[in-house]
Amino acid sequence: MSDVSLEDIVSLCKRRGFIYPGSDIYGGLSGTWDYGPLGVQLKRNISNLWWKTFVEDRDDMYGIDAAILMNQKVWQASGHVGGFNDPLFECNNCKNRFRADHLVENWIDAHPDKLNAVIHEAYNQSPETLNHYKNLYKMACPNCGKQELSDVRQFNMMFKTHVGAVEDETSVSYLRPETAQGMFVNFKNVVDSFYPDVPFGMAQIGKAFRNEIAPRDFIFRVRELEQMEIEYFVQPDGWREQFDYWLDQQKQFLIGLGLAEEKIHQVEIGPDDRAHYSKHSVDTEFDFPFGQKELLGCAYRTDYDLSKHQAASGKNLEYRPKDGGTPYIPHVIEPTFGLDRLFLAVVASAYCEDEVNGEKRSFLKLPAHLAPISVAVSPLLKNKPELVAKAKEVFAMLKKEFGSVTWDDNSNVGKRYRRSDEIGIPYHVTIDFDTLEGDNAGTVTVRNRDTTEQTRVGIEDLVANLAL
Ligand code: ATP
Repeated sequence: MSDVSLEDIVSLCKRRGFIYPGSDIYGGLSGTWDYGPLGVQLKRNISNLWWKTFVEDRDDMYGIDAAILMNQKVWQASGHVGGFNDPLFECNNCKNRFRADHLVENWIDAHPDKLNAVIHEAYNQSPETLNHYKNLYKMACPNCGKQELSDVRQFNMMFKTHVGAVEDETSVSYLRPETAQGMFVNFKNVVDSFYPDVPFGMAQIGKAFRNEIAPRDFIFRVRELEQMEIEYFVQPDGWREQFDYWLDQQKQFLIGLGLAEEKIHQVEIGPDDRAHYSKHSVDTEFDFPFGQKELLGCAYRTDYDLSKHQAASGKNLEYRPKDGGTPYIPHVIEPTFGLDRLFLAVVASAYCEDEVNGEKRSFLKLPAHLAPISVAVSPLLKNKPELVAKAKEVFAMLKKEFGSVTWDDNSNVGKRYRRSDEIGIPYHVTIDFDTLEGDNAGTVTVRNRDTTEQTRVGIEDLVANLAL
């Protein structure tokens, strides 16, 4: 488990402009959150790093940005209309609905005495198993306490809408529940345009929507989320090696984001719990403040999606080997990354508390390459024009170099440092009277967020001295 509480993170995120509740002034909208100025920058730094690592730095990856709304036939062929369901129990008394597997899971956690191998396997199991344990242990509604939970019902999580002015069955569309299908339906386009060698991949970053029965744990389970997904096309007999490779790539990416290796767990998913398209799945779980939960997924989707789309669209989606070999439908390894969950894992990992000069301090020890702001610049006193003028010069120089530089001349230096630390600014540069004259003329104070150490650095050496 992480040492920081979720409440600390939520409160910091709201107070300091990382994340606000969606539709806040109207009392919010369950399962939606808005990223504020610092949050959007941090999120973008994470997604830019992902794009650089998996698209720009490779020569076998093709990025796309497909439309969120797609022809309803896409979702029929992919199996999402029929199978993208979560099991729910409805309370016949108070009418509240609960995710059946979560309710059973929570009940088991609360009754360790009843825990045994059989019931442990009830996690995410078939409706029959969930009903069986609900009835056997007389599980009650978590809201009203009555033992009046219905049997499991399947609930489709796609948001349905209509495209155009006519609302009938032909105009039905869905907000995509995963970005993956945008890549499968563009597979032929990319092959026709670029004719890459197999293996190669397609990558996409974008919003996905899931009408979760019970959104919870801040941005961990939301209804509007952002995914970063790769569909990596391989020869059928080479899938295992590629799968293991991508699993390792996922782990290395997390370590590069500053997540502790011992908090990362890769867990194989049993046949009953896998998505309908997967023949082998490994989730990468992380020790969040509320327990060990899924952060990323990796699935062997076989030729499931391309075959379904080939059959439904009538278009040939086979790949023609360049050596004249027999055309075939490539198999797919899908490493998928939830951006909101990554954001939460990064902030939870960075959140620290210590004591400076006898006072408690909380700060975000974000890796410098992720910090939404790299440097803060301050004149020691804001009512001394000569200090302000020099500080503005330094500010302009750093801004030109690093972009994400902020100005802070409010209150005293100690308070400025605390404010900088709390939002994870790695360096705070202060221009004081010594900058202007005396033995130290031309130098500034650079304070390090993590060590709180202050050093004097010449202005001309400043850019080179900041490890950004
Ligand atoms: P879970 O079991 O937690 O519902 P899942 O197995 O359905 O997740 P996938 O379909 O594999 O998730 O989605 C890929 C990734 O998208 C997940 O690993 C996660 O990072 C992210 N994700 C999925 N659902 C949500 C959600 N409701 N809110 C935030 N992120 C999500």
